[in-house]
Amino acid sequence: MTAERVALPPNSTIGIIGGGQLGRMSAMAAARLGYRCHILTPEADSPAAQVSSAVTIGAYDDPVAIRAFAEAVDVITFEFENVSAAGLDLLAELKPVHPSPAILRVSQDRVVEKSFINGAGAPSAPWAPVDTLAELQESVRDLGLPAVLKTTRLGYDGRGQAVLRDAEDVAAAWERLGPKPLILEGFVDFACELSVIVARGADGAMVAFDVVENRHRNHVLDITLAPARVASSVAEAARLTACRIAGALRLVGLLAVEMFVDRDGHILVNELAPRPHNSGHWTIDACPVSQFEMHIRAVAGLPLPPAWRHSDAVMKNMVGPEEMALWPAVLATPGLIPHLYGKAEARAGRKMGHVTRLFGKGALPGEFGVAAALGPLGAAPPISI
Ligand code: AMP
Repeated sequence: MTAERVALPPNSTIGIIGGGQLGRMSAMAAARLGYRCHILTPEADSPAAQVSSAVTIGAYDDPVAIRAFAEAVDVITFEFENVSAAGLDLLAELKPVHPSPAILRVSQDRVVEKSFINGAGAPSAPWAPVDTLAELQESVRDLGLPAVLKTTRLGYDGRGQAVLRDAEDVAAAWERLGPKPLILEGFVDFACELSVIVARGADGAMVAFDVVENRHRNHVLDITLAPARVASSVAEAARLTACRIAGALRLVGLLAVEMFVDRDGHILVNELAPRPHNSGHWTIDACPVSQFEMHIRAVAGLPLPPAWRHSDAVMKNMVGPEEMALWPAVLATPGLIPHLYGKAEARAGRKMGHVTRLFGKGALPGEFGVAAALGPLGAAPPISI
C-alpha cells in the first residue's frame, strides 16, 4: 500500500536534529530548494547551524529544547540517529518526523538492526547477542575465531569494538567492552567494502545511487571510489539488497547500507544509517542531484529524480590536524574540489572536510592512480582497516 506524497511549500522550515557536517550539507541543499533549516544540537557554533537560519541549542533528550525546536519547524529529520526513545516519542507527538522513529530504533541497536536485516531476507555475517562472559565464551565456540565484539549501541568509526583473534583475547575484550549489551559477529575476510545510498518517498518511489567502494584508515572512512570496481552482478546484488531493506523499513528519507563483499563475491550487510552518509559525499560534485538534495526531497515530499551520475569520482576525507595542515596545498591543486565543515578545532581523528576529484565516466584511475589523483592528500599513510 502506498501513501500520498504531500509537497512542503517553498519557504517552509525543515528541522534537522544534529549539528554536524551531514546537517550542514543537507541545509545547503535545502536552501537551494527554497527551504529554511532549523538545527537542534547541544553544540554552540555547530557546522550545521553556521549555514542555517535558526538553531536551538539543547540536549537531544531535553523536553524543553525539543518542544521549542518542534514548534518552530514544519517537518523534522535527522543527521544523527542516537536520539533517546523518550526524545523520539516527544518529537513524533509534535510534528511529522522522517524517517520514522521506528526506523531510528532499528539503526540504534546492532542486535535489532541485524535481526531486521536478516528478517528482510538480506544476509549478514553470523552474529549472536552477548550479555555475559559465559554467553561470550559460548558464542565464540559457535562462531569461531577470529570474530568481532561490538557494543550494541553508540558505536561508530570503530569505537566500542574489539577484534578477537585467539582465545586469550576473549576475557580482555569482555573486560574492555562489558558488562553492557554486546554482539559478537563472525569476522568477514572481505574482498572490499561497498555502500549503497537509497532514497524513498512517502509514495514508495525509490531511487538508488551507484554502488561505491569504501576504504577505511584507523576504522574511519578514508576514501570512496564511485563507482565501485566490482562485477556488475555484485553491484546489482548490492543495489537490490539496499532497496529491499529500504522497502522493508517503509523508509521515508535516505538510507545508507554498508556491506562487505566476501571472497566468493557474496554481499553481507554490515550496518544501516537512515540519513546522509560520508560515503555519499561524492554525489555533491558528481551527480545533478546529490544525496543531500535527495534527502531533503524525500523528507519534503518532493519528486525524486533519478540518482544519476555524470562523472566517476574519488572522495577523500580530511581528518585531524595532519590532513588539515595540507589545506593550503589542497586549495592550490587544480582539479581537487574542496569542502570544509567550519569546525574550529582540528582534533585527532575529527572529520574536518573532504575533497572530490572527478573523472569522465569509465575513467576512474587504477590503484596507483588514486593516490596521484589526490595531489597532496595522496601521500597520506598507507590505507589500512
Ligand atoms: P562498523 O562500526 O560496524 O561500521 O565497523 C567499522 C569497520 O570495521 C567496518 O567498516 C569494517 O572495516 C570493520 N568491521 C566491522 N565489522 C566487521 C566484521 N564482522 N568483519 C570484518 N571487519 C569488520
